[in-house]
Amino acid sequence: MKARQGSGLGVAIGPAIIAKPDLHLNAYAPGDPAKERRRLDKTLAKAEKQLRKLAAKPIRANAAIFGAQRELLLDARVTDEAYRLIDAGDPATGAWTAAVERHRPWLQGLPDAPGQLELADSVEHRVLALLTGTPTEFETEEPGILVVPVLDPGMAVTLDPTQVLGVVTIGGGATGHGVIIARSRGIPIFPAAGHLAAGVENGDTIAFVARGDRRIAVKPDPDELAEFEQILHDLTVLQAEAQAHAHEPAYTSDGTHIEVYANVLAEADAEEMVGLGADGWVIRTEILFGGSPHPPTVEEQEQAFLRLSRTFGGKRMIVRTWDIGGDKTVPFLPLDVEENPFLGVRGLRVFRNRPELLIDQIEAVCRAGRLTPLSLMFPMVTTVEEIDWALGLVDDVTARVGRPDDLQVGMMIEIPAAALRARLMTQRLDFVSIGTNDLTQYTTAAERGNAALHVLADPLDPAVLRLIRLVADESRPETLIAVCGDANTDPDVAALLVGLGVRELTPGAPAVPMVKARLRTSSLSELTELAQRALACSSGAEVRELIRSRFR
Ligand code: PEP
Ligand code: MG
Repeated sequence: MKARQGSGLGVAIGPAIIAKPDLHLNAYAPGDPAKERRRLDKTLAKAEKQLRKLAAKPIRANAAIFGAQRELLLDARVTDEAYRLIDAGDPATGAWTAAVERHRPWLQGLPDAPGQLELADSVEHRVLALLTGTPTEFETEEPGILVVPVLDPGMAVTLDPTQVLGVVTIGGGATGHGVIIARSRGIPIFPAAGHLAAGVENGDTIAFVARGDRRIAVKPDPDELAEFEQILHDLTVLQAEAQAHAHEPAYTSDGTHIEVYANVLAEADAEEMVGLGADGWVIRTEILFGGSPHPPTVEEQEQAFLRLSRTFGGKRMIVRTWDIGGDKTVPFLPLDVEENPFLGVRGLRVFRNRPELLIDQIEAVCRAGRLTPLSLMFPMVTTVEEIDWALGLVDDVTARVGRPDDLQVGMMIEIPAAALRARLMTQRLDFVSIGTNDLTQYTTAAERGNAALHVLADPLDPAVLRLIRLVADESRPETLIAVCGDANTDPDVAALLVGLGVRELTPGAPAVPMVKARLRTSSLSELTELAQRALACSSGAEVRELIRSRFR
């Protein structure tokens, strides 16, 4: 079996592989309209089959995304338009492009919404590739570093980490779909390289460090290359040492215990992740069940939670309730198209007028929670009234099916309004988990998938750090402060978060051993002082430099 995980080091050196083969549209020989219709029919059927297969791949983190791609592919508004253009004399290739372009505004909800842009682009490209005989999935003979305009989720899920040493994206944001999937699989990724990777050609040596102060070099000179090699070597040694203690708890040098959980995106990944030593797990349910054509029943969800629990040896799992909307769709709960989906009906908001699916999920957690330690976590909460409403649902369900003895209930803090009233929000909560991906985008008003705003959407921006500190200071003392979100996958950032008052972390699983190792090297008082200095910095870049020099 091929490894599903990469090194998790965030560093890569190797020859560039320019990924997306050009489509040779000019070489396409069109037939008469009847033939072109048949070609398009056959191609759509083939594309649909591919997407179904991709959704069922062992690494199904993106099942929801493939579901959405299938929906776009089969939408009659697009296909009818393509057939109409073919009947008017267009080749299938031109008709398909024109039909997708024509419907792009509603396909993606907003003309320039980047998350959805990937969906429309992916579907358009897949059909054109099949029509022109171009390979649709990426394969390589020699190990190397993949260079892509954006990392399509379809590509991210099929990458073989034994061949793909790292990925460089020219565009796309730092927390887009494909990037999150690659990172969660431990594949080093350098997103939004822009002009830094301009002009790179197949076979050129690329070296990058995508942690701390990120650096990339195309055709590095021997001295520069030696520097990158040294970094990679040192990290590999550190990682091997860290792995030896991965299953031990992480205590700071002055004895504060920090729980290090990990994200799990797919059941099929779980077994391989057990060896990485996470103290518990966070499940994004819209991804775990996102490939399902129908809403998963209470029974199906309960059984999935229990299967995962068996794999994880009964360690606590935090079940995040459906976070549908924004850039995440599921086939079984279509949402209205919105002008600004990230500021729209997303997460908890989806269920205010139709709570049935959420109630089912709470019930599944309560049932499975009798046999294994589970926590319930609500995403995208803005107001006290919203969390009271969600807790009311928990009360109703537990009155009906019973409350597991050690059920913990919490919410995510990913909206500044929630952070700013942490004291009121946490009155009845066992824990809060700060979602740095969204908290950053909502604090900086910089969309998380937008390459042009990549520098602005910085989780180390002191404004974001201040909100995290506020949550730690203001929350009711009995409420545990956790972080999930990509930022804490970097061990130095994880240590800084502990200094800000966070007591539970959730990096991508491949980063767990290194995060634990980093926490053991410092005392809480040192980290608290470091955090104090970070709060006084004037920019994310300054904070990065501060923590880099502290842990060098
Ligand atoms: C976050 O916003 O930081 C988070 C963990 O949730 P997601 O990335 O799924 O929105
Ligand atoms: Mg979020």
